[in-house]
Amino acid sequence: MLIPARMSEAEEKRWVTVMLDKLAAQESKRVLGDTELAERAERLSAQYFDGRARPTSVRWVTNQNTRWGSCTPSEGSIRLSHRLQGMPEYVVDYVLLHELAHLLVPGHGPRFWRLLEAYPRTERAKGYLEGVVAAERLPNPPGAREE
Ligand SMILES: [Zn+2]
Repeated sequence: MLIPARMSEAEEKRWVTVMLDKLAAQESKRVLGDTELAERAERLSAQYFDGRARPTSVRWVTNQNTRWGSCTPSEGSIRLSHRLQGMPEYVVDYVLLHELAHLLVPGHGPRFWRLLEAYPRTERAKGYLEGVVAAERLPNPPGAREE
């Protein structure tokens, strides 16, 4: 980092803090690769589902515009819409957990939502995604129709 020469020590400290915040913000906006996505899914499964949800593949796809995520339980594969890239981590984690939960429970019955209750930001993430949909005025709210 280049620090302007005339800064006082206090100014310098403040400036460094600002720059570190900016770097952290950029870092959190960085897109996860498929490998990182799979690692994240594994960690979430371990943390919230005792590791019972074991996907065989987790990857981003660009052909899902009306759904945030989908899974094929028979194959154990999970796909996340690239539209989630750049959204807050807790939102991506929620969608991952949602699809992981489908590896354990099909459909959206009480048993399914009981699994998701373990994740403290489920409601907040759902609200965020609903807000995105409302903002974009999509005809089919993602999350409502997927299986
Ligand atoms: Zn679902």
